[in-house]
Amino acid sequence: MKPANAPSSTRRQFVGQLAASAAALALAPTAVRAATVAAPLSSKKLGVALVGLGGYSIGQLVPALRRTQHCQLVGVATRDPGGKGREAAQVFGFPAKNIYAYDQIASMRDNSDIDIIYVVTPNSLHRQDVVAAAAAGKHVITEKPMGISVADCDTMIKACRDAGVQLGLGYRNNFDPYFQEMMRIARWKEFGALKAMSGEFSGNINAAGAWRTQKALAGGGPVMDLGVYVIHASILAAAGESPIAVTAKATINRPQIYTDVEEIMEFTLEFANGAKCDGFTSYGGPKPLGSGPNRFRADYERGFVDFPAAFNYNGTHALTTRGPLSFPNVADPADNTYQQARQLDDFARCVRDNVPTSVPGEMGRQDLCVIEAIYTSAKNNGARTLVKV
Ligand code: NAD
Repeated sequence: MKPANAPSSTRRQFVGQLAASAAALALAPTAVRAATVAAPLSSKKLGVALVGLGGYSIGQLVPALRRTQHCQLVGVATRDPGGKGREAAQVFGFPAKNIYAYDQIASMRDNSDIDIIYVVTPNSLHRQDVVAAAAAGKHVITEKPMGISVADCDTMIKACRDAGVQLGLGYRNNFDPYFQEMMRIARWKEFGALKAMSGEFSGNINAAGAWRTQKALAGGGPVMDLGVYVIHASILAAAGESPIAVTAKATINRPQIYTDVEEIMEFTLEFANGAKCDGFTSYGGPKPLGSGPNRFRADYERGFVDFPAAFNYNGTHALTTRGPLSFPNVADPADNTYQQARQLDDFARCVRDNVPTSVPGEMGRQDLCVIEAIYTSAKNNGARTLVKV
């Protein structure tokens, strides 16, 4: 994740980033690439078009798409079709006909190169971009948070259902082996009942004006952007169960920057069996976005799973009652887009096999239900607020 307050890339920087992501892949060890391989179903890779060529697309998804076995980058939609779009086409070798402006997404319908549209724009734009992708008859992945309201999520789910296309979330952690092991422990109650959880994801935005600090584009502050990881992890640790109630407190320490959204949110999620998750997320963290504190821990009756680094793109590791978890292919420092490559390949396989994705729109909606309750509680001075599902 690029710091949200970083200046926009110049064209030269953009081309440099594209080239760097290609070079990084070339250096990645074979074991890393092999780790993303699953049984090939057919030789044809599905075509992916990225909507939005910002920090996450260029820094993570483009290199991940070079590692995937079942899909590849074949097109883009961007604010700058003649500049960034053309350069991406040249670097990645797709035809100019596959470059679109944002308002042309629905016309991807006529382009048989494109099977999947991946929406990577600011949060409030996900709804219109997903609806346009569904109108194009393409399967869709959208980034987190799924939208900025539960109503957004309902609109996207309905549009995709009506169009008969799959809708998946960019929940990369669900494809991280460490998280998958926690999900397995939770599902089979290997450590008994869930007792308590805690988590934090923070990073610094220290200048006004970034879209992440504008409610109209971001929907809210760090809860929407970073806190959602803690909320999502707690639901995974609870074997998919939603919290039933929340309490929350929002703080603004730098009102000159945070005129529109919270700077810090502390929240407690309460689950049906009485287990609680204490969460913290801040844009006033000690380090830039993407490198700030991030951790998650779940305590069960007879054991724990503890992620000292939970939500980074790489370097995830976890301790458990049984000792540290170990996945040798994941520990490699070059292994920077492992989660995203697995996530993309899984979605492509689901589309190709016509089986439902394990990260559907309903999962994104579940997290938005919790986020809405957090904002309601914070607005009402921390009153205990039920999560409406
Ligand atoms: P960014 O600011 O780097 O890029 C945003 C992109 O959206 C740019 O291409 C920009 O041109 C485009 N855009 C279109 N309309 C815009 C507008 N009105 N204002 C600003 N930009 C506009 O952001 P990013 O970090 O790439 O985040 C994009 C999405 O991806 C967000 O929803 C974010 O939450 C998500 N994200 C997910 C992860 C993850 O790990 N899954 C990490 C980072 C970002």
